Amino acid sequence: MKKFDVIIIGGGHNGLVASSYLSKKGKKVLVIEKNENVGGLAEYAESLNCISPIIKKELGINVNNINHSNNIISLEDNQNHTILSDKNGKLSFVQTNADENDQKKFLSIINNYKLFSKTLGAFMFQKPPRVKSGKRADLFQLISMGWKIRKLGKKNMRELLRVIGLNIADDLEDNLNNNNLMGLLSHEAVLGTNLGPRSPGSILTLLYKQAINDNIFNLNKIEVAEYINQLEDCCNKNTVEIIKSSEVKKILTQNNSVTGVQLTNGEGFESKYVMSNADPKTTYLNLLGAEILDTDFIRRTKNFRNKGNVAKLELALENEININNIDKKMNGKFIYAPGIKYIEHAFNANKYNKYSENPCLEFYVNQKTLSANVYYVPYLINTNHQENEIIERCVSVLSKFIPDMKIVKQKLITPNKMEEKFNIAGGHWHHGDLEIDQLLMMRPFYGSAQYSTPINGLYLCGAGTHPGGGLTGINGLNAAKKVIEDLK
Ligand SMILES: Cc1cc2nc3c(=O)[nH]c(=O)nc-3n(C[C@H](O)[C@H](O)[C@H](O)COP(=O)(O)OP(=O)(O)OC[C@H]3O[C@@H](n4cnc5c(N)ncnc54)[C@H](O)[C@@H]3O)c2cc1C
Repeated sequence: MKKFDVIIIGGGHNGLVASSYLSKKGKKVLVIEKNENVGGLAEYAESLNCISPIIKKELGINVNNINHSNNIISLEDNQNHTILSDKNGKLSFVQTNADENDQKKFLSIINNYKLFSKTLGAFMFQKPPRVKSGKRADLFQLISMGWKIRKLGKKNMRELLRVIGLNIADDLEDNLNNNNLMGLLSHEAVLGTNLGPRSPGSILTLLYKQAINDNIFNLNKIEVAEYINQLEDCCNKNTVEIIKSSEVKKILTQNNSVTGVQLTNGEGFESKYVMSNADPKTTYLNLLGAEILDTDFIRRTKNFRNKGNVAKLELALENEININNIDKKMNGKFIYAPGIKYIEHAFNANKYNKYSENPCLEFYVNQKTLSANVYYVPYLINTNHQENEIIERCVSVLSKFIPDMKIVKQKLITPNKMEEKFNIAGGHWHHGDLEIDQLLMMRPFYGSAQYSTPINGLYLCGAGTHPGGGLTGINGLNAAKKVIEDLK
């Protein structure tokens, strides 16, 4: 069997980041990717503010924005759309029917959230501390976390502690009157989560995403494929061996320690260190096998919440796409989530594993093509999605704003399809919910945080670890650092 210092299961962007760091340290690394291309879920991503600056610098990643017009366009049925412009994180209204008081309050809420998310942001790039480890470094990190919150000052600290468990609907309804503005912020809070605007913790998810993205609206549209190409080039430059179209069937172990992996075609590779870019449930229950894990750990793995509910819709139209009442030259992110009630109704269907009659949409337009994130389209067990019905519902929403839609091509990628293609249990775009009990030192769950696992030599490096999903690469970086530390 061919032998490597480290084997990485999966060539998602986190797997690529981890392998680049390890090979830069002189380790002989093998990446095994199920699909014919690396990049994983990044295939569906459009925008990102959030590639870690450390990774950009240390791996020499340089990806340009596709357009420089950072607008958020929140669509209204009466065609009086709200347009916000974002200049380096500074938001201003270009057009809205909200009164001046609401506009001011909206910007002030965002500034408050920004302040809180900056405090959380300080923890995003680090490996989360281990409570009760008895190590000074962990204790120091915990104290510094508490100190950063205390440094907000009495008033702001109290406000942060007040809102952290609240639902976003309550906070917005206490402060605003305009439905569209409330819908817009609620959308950012709940997209990609299993929460509605009235679910407790929906402010925390907004703060958390803002902390990761360093921005409330994840706006910068970049050539994601170019980002992945550059990561792959970096692996190649550092002589990482990448095998594509090959699936790992089993992580091999002996006496509670990793010994290698076996592929579905029977081929095997040897290593004392294996990192999994697959999600936690797939890693533990399918690749490792429950038989070598203890009962309590298996219970925690099974309880990890990972029901995906975002689908990707791709449409090609016969003619160039024009949106009613929007200047042709206007670029940006379009959102249709016109109020708290609308989103909450869409969420209600999701609770019962039904897709929303009236879905919420976030989309980008490029001449004749449109690509949208659709929610809520829940992951389904034992039944199939009626894809045409979902597409019809989306088109019915879109045709309120795009006159005379002549569709020449349509494609819907449901969470079930994402699971099938990338082996992501539940088809969740963060590999698991970002909620208070699945964050920081509790991500994915107790006994499996800080990138290590109960099996010697087995590590997690995907979106199921801290700080969660998105294209930061931080999970890969932190996990690689942990392996490098342990290799010493
Ligand atoms: C519709 C959609 C839109 C999104 N939009 C954005 C966005 O605009 N901005 C943003 O920042 N994020 C976005 N995301 C989220 C982001 O894409 C993911 O969180 C991120 O890509 C996760 O990266 P990862 O490397 O941790 O895991 P993944 O991308 O899931 O990679 C895991 C890899 O492991 C491989 N694998 C799994 N099991 C095996 C096995 N047994 N053998 C071999 N290979 C295996 C898979 O094929 C996959 O390539 C979006 C996600 C979706 C679904």
